[in-house]
Amino acid sequence: MTNEELWKAVLGQIELSISKANFVTWFKNTGILQSQDGTVTIGVPNGFAKEWLENKYNIYILRALKSLDPSVSEIRCVIAQEKPTQNILSVDSVKNVDAVQAPENSGFVRKKLIERPSFGGQTSSTPVFHETNLNSRYTFENFIVAENNELARAACYAVSQNLGMAYNPLFIYGGVGLGKTHLLQSIGNEVVKNAPEKRIKYITSERFTTELVDSIKNQKIDKFKEYYQQMDLLIIDDVQFLSGREKTQNEFFHIFNALYQINKQIVISSDRPPKAIPTLEERLRSRFEGGMITDISRPTVETRIAILESKLSERGLSVDPAALRYIAENISQNIRELEGALNRILAYSEFHKIPPNLENTKRILAELIENNKKTIQTDDVFRVVMEFYSISKEDLVKKGRKKEVAHPRQMLMHLLRSELQIPFSSIGDFLGGRDHTTALHAFEKIDKNKDTDPQIQEELSTLRERLYYSASV
Ligand code: ADP
Ligand code: MG
Repeated sequence: MTNEELWKAVLGQIELSISKANFVTWFKNTGILQSQDGTVTIGVPNGFAKEWLENKYNIYILRALKSLDPSVSEIRCVIAQEKPTQNILSVDSVKNVDAVQAPENSGFVRKKLIERPSFGGQTSSTPVFHETNLNSRYTFENFIVAENNELARAACYAVSQNLGMAYNPLFIYGGVGLGKTHLLQSIGNEVVKNAPEKRIKYITSERFTTELVDSIKNQKIDKFKEYYQQMDLLIIDDVQFLSGREKTQNEFFHIFNALYQINKQIVISSDRPPKAIPTLEERLRSRFEGGMITDISRPTVETRIAILESKLSERGLSVDPAALRYIAENISQNIRELEGALNRILAYSEFHKIPPNLENTKRILAELIENNKKTIQTDDVFRVVMEFYSISKEDLVKKGRKKEVAHPRQMLMHLLRSELQIPFSSIGDFLGGRDHTTALHAFEKIDKNKDTDPQIQEELSTLRERLYYSASV
């Protein structure tokens, strides 16, 4: 077996044991450089990957290697020469480079730039400090690291220490209330702390779109672009909302390229991976996929308890551990809700001057927990599927087998069955009078693939989360 074949087989095994995001992140551009006297030397693209492979994945790698070649007893990672950065720029964006780069050469000009007028606000003659939109309450220090988020956290931290150099772009995805905004903001706050001269902008994609539309209306599109293209760190939160907005995507693409070209850092978050964002332009998708993609998943109950404890200690308070466990066990979907539940209990006990214990916690949270279990209606399932896939009800219901529609339709049928236990014949009726066997097949197809196809797995879990989360608010 050649080294190449051996590594391919090893990767094949590892891929089965770790999440897709982790696999792609850490094993991209790796390979066996040498195999001698039981020691296998693995080439990795950078120091960050070296650390992770050596400390976290060494057991997986060794186990896989040993199963293929029992003489292997040790692995070693070395940083192999990095591949040259791909040139992904369009002619358009190259034209902008001089304009953006010039101020970097002069401390004076650069200082002035920090105080340039913020975009979209006052008239350009009123200088205001540029708005970073950062909220200082989100920091790495108060972010609890656990298995569900350690990779995302590590990537964000690495980026904050090495703008434009560690991972660019960095793409973080995960469900509602799991800490994406917290991490993104932490990067910004960390940079402010260490390098206050850097130009930083945090913005949600929705706000970005509004500003863009305003700038077009007011014929200030050039200023808009100029403003964004001089950032050292541009953070775009909830990028899934760019879905279907062609004009915004186009402008963002140019801004992205201009920044990327000169190694300026871009960080993006979304509720799902780039490939699952419907109507995201292919060229943007491939830009996002060209960097590092990591996910945040739902925390375990132990992590939820740790988060509650940390929120309490920030405020110098404590709560009966049995009560804390009760909260953490019953509020599992979303850390924002978890904090909300804790606040409710603290407010109640402060008002009544009684310490929170298991008994009053149960009573106070009864309503909240009941709401969380609120019955989902057929309409809710339709709405969530329509929103997630950006598809109309008409398209879902009408006849037609186009893949863009067929897949969402099958997911819809699956959810109607798995979540609401609706008879297949009624599911057929809901979908424009289809036969019950169609509904049955759709259900079975998704059911069969859901354990082996990570994309289906991911979509299902996001859809479910939205179903229960949105029904409870
Ligand atoms: P998202 O952007 O993913 O919807 P947020 O970042 O807004 O979620 O997080 C929701 C709330 O939960 C915030 O108040 C955040 O500070 C808190 N939170 C999330 N994850 C953690 C964590 N690991 N440690 C501490 N607080 C967290
Ligand atoms: Mg958020």
